[in-house]
Amino acid sequence: MSSRFGPKPRLGYTDSRIERAAELRPDSAAMDTLTRDPRAGTYVIGGEWIVARKNSPANEPLFSFADAETFGPATETVFLGLLEGTPRFGYGLAPAAIEALKSRNDMQVVDLRSIAVQGLVAAEHLPPIAEAKAVLHWHARHRFCPNCGAATRLVHGGWRRDCPQCKTEHFPRTDPVVIMLASDGDSCLLGRSPRFAPTMWSCLAGYVEPGESFEDAVRRETREEAGVTCGRVAYFASQPWPFPTSLMIGCHAQALTREIIVDREELEDARWFSKAEVETMLMRKHPQGLTTPPPVAIAHHIIRAWVEGEISFE
Ligand SMILES: [Zn+2]
Repeated sequence: MSSRFGPKPRLGYTDSRIERAAELRPDSAAMDTLTRDPRAGTYVIGGEWIVARKNSPANEPLFSFADAETFGPATETVFLGLLEGTPRFGYGLAPAAIEALKSRNDMQVVDLRSIAVQGLVAAEHLPPIAEAKAVLHWHARHRFCPNCGAATRLVHGGWRRDCPQCKTEHFPRTDPVVIMLASDGDSCLLGRSPRFAPTMWSCLAGYVEPGESFEDAVRRETREEAGVTCGRVAYFASQPWPFPTSLMIGCHAQALTREIIVDREELEDARWFSKAEVETMLMRKHPQGLTTPPPVAIAHHIIRAWVEGEISFE
């Protein structure tokens, strides 16, 4: 759907073309065959860093296993799934190997946020890179059993770690984060984190706690961070956010109060914005240069849907 802002941009890290083929993961013979498939492609990742072959207009982030192995041994490999029958993997590299690649002229070693915001690789690569980055991050922090302390081992194509001592099976985790736009009629509540670019304002957000619904988390975070009480909460959309292993749950919320009390531990500032002002921010035409987050982030889409009148608690 398009509007006066033009066609809707793609939400980053979503709409993966990969079939995860989870039924193949426990089959170690099938995993070996897929790893040796000459068509297999792997994303090479070390912590925050993604490796891509320098190319114009878009850099190539897929490597053969033979090429990836020349960079250094894999810390772990993860089976991401099949793209039209072709196996795709994630390949973890140790920090020293990543540092060595940074000095090469034929390679780009860039963090995923920059890749996504600047469009340094074709958009279809972002979902599998996000998938690989999140699972590899989990592996790097679960080499020892949290239950008994013994060394765990990778099984099921990288989707489980087993403890040989206490027999616990460990699965990759995803951390839910609610991200919400509270609104009252023609105005909405935006905040600024001290980490933001100086002109950027965005939705409030926070981790969902154990024993809490998304709706309760939206109301609690809005009250804690800005002192505003919310009533109704409407789910909008979600987005994998591999920094490091979050899932953003986008919501709109009905603000019931107007007074703002900013939690300075969490936010630099928060205030009400009119729909007209937010519209100029989305269009990059704000007189003071204030902006909303870029289209790669779900906050952009949450804010835009409200400005376009898709959301109403009337
Ligand atoms: Zn154990």
